[in-house]
Amino acid sequence: MKYVLVTGGVVSGLGKGVTASSIGLILKACGLRVTSIKIDPYLNTDAGTMSPFEHGEVFVLDDGGEVDLDLGNYERFLDIKLTRDNNITTGKIYQSVIDKERKGDYLGKTVQVVPHITDAIQEWIERVAVIPVDGEDSPADVCVIELGGTIGDIESMPFIEALGQFSYRVGAGNFCLIHVSLVPVLNVVGEQKTKPTQHSVRGLRSLGLAPNILACRSTMGLDDNVKEKLSRFCHVPIDNIISLHDVSNIWRVPLILRDQKAHESILRVLNLKGVAREPVFG
Ligand code: ADP
Repeated sequence: MKYVLVTGGVVSGLGKGVTASSIGLILKACGLRVTSIKIDPYLNTDAGTMSPFEHGEVFVLDDGGEVDLDLGNYERFLDIKLTRDNNITTGKIYQSVIDKERKGDYLGKTVQVVPHITDAIQEWIERVAVIPVDGEDSPADVCVIELGGTIGDIESMPFIEALGQFSYRVGAGNFCLIHVSLVPVLNVVGEQKTKPTQHSVRGLRSLGLAPNILACRSTMGLDDNVKEKLSRFCHVPIDNIISLHDVSNIWRVPLILRDQKAHESILRVLNLKGVAREPVFG
């Protein structure tokens, strides 16, 4: 199993869900079987009790799971059927650890965020990643994990720590970190600004995660000199800096990824270049 982690920086609502779904779709177009997990670092057990005014519509899965609407994007983009366990929340993880503690499963140990919560997160990811979601009997080739929220949020810290340990455990070649960030244009100077992304990548590194690919949300495509600057300051190869400019329709996002050969960068990081074909949609 190979893992693609999608994180977000600078601001919320950047389009991580759409980006993660589109990455899944382009990998599927390359002939790989893809599943997905959405991590929501809130304490609610699921989205069923959350106001749609605050959070958007609740998406109801075939097994009755009431989950984040991003899982709807995954099901539509990837033509898969997810389970309620494909949506991990802080509430679910803590509930499972507290239930185990009450049963005495920790044999008198002091139960702590590290290692008990972080281990529970990693075990949950490994257990759910192998559930077939596309009608076949065997596990998918790639699991796309989207970490909700923004890097630096207090809520997501246990997940970041768990994912840092996880990336080390599965090893280079099995884990690709794609950081979705914002490159704003200041009207007065009319320039694409890289500083928010630099800070966000620095924050990510300070938490033990190094991005393999940067996906930059902006109003227009990134200028070449902006890519060079990002590459130099964020230590990401220039070929792995993808411009995710605004499009009129989110179904165009997989196409802008393909046009910039984002699949080649991902396949290179995951050591899948020889296995996958050129992307064919439809
Ligand atoms: P997040 O998961 O980061 O909160 P979402 O994936 O829910 O963000 O996307 C937020 C909004 O941005 C959605 O309305 C989505 O349709 C829109 N969006 C995402 N990517 C693009 C894009 N490249 N161009 C235009 N709109 C986009």
